Amino acid sequence: MDTRQTLRAAKAVLRDRTPLCTDCGRTCGHACCLPDETGRGGMLLFPTEAEEYEPLPRSFHIAPAPEMPEGLLLTCEGRCDRRMRPLSCMLFPLLPREKEGRVRAVRDRRGFYVCPLLESGVGGLSPDFVRAVTEAGEILYTDPAHRAFLEALHRQLDAWKDLLG
Ligand code: SF4
Ligand code: SF4
Repeated sequence: MDTRQTLRAAKAVLRDRTPLCTDCGRTCGHACCLPDETGRGGMLLFPTEAEEYEPLPRSFHIAPAPEMPEGLLLTCEGRCDRRMRPLSCMLFPLLPREKEGRVRAVRDRRGFYVCPLLESGVGGLSPDFVRAVTEAGEILYTDPAHRAFLEALHRQLDAWKDLLG
């Protein structure tokens, strides 16, 4: 599989999976879809993902991501066709992470300020969702571009953690 096919395979695993069996957005007002205090918000696109948005849906915008060299950030207007969600939205509030040759689903540190589900840890989420994030990660880590992207993202989140304590 090439990088684009790998991305599509990872997305296919997550397509109908959600963090809870019910709509978690009902309790938080879909907080992760709202712009942040800067009015921006946005989700990092995985390698080749921008090509999936050609033509770009009207409510989506893509711009360089200041926090990630060569990264692209997708911003939206708080609503989307579920089938068009970027992979970062499908994985949220978790991220796959490979350590010592094993991929696990870990909490996405960026979600701590937004997502009430993270307080209860990974164990508080639907096991089916956690499995899907892990499986999607196993697929992504087979591709050098996605591996490099995830490693860079985790390095950045670790640095952020060290900075904030
Ligand atoms: S912020 Fe968390 S609880 Fe709210 S919609 Fe997003 S994933 Fe669900
Ligand atoms: S693209 Fe869709 S799922 Fe992702 S933040 Fe925007 S509205 Fe929410």
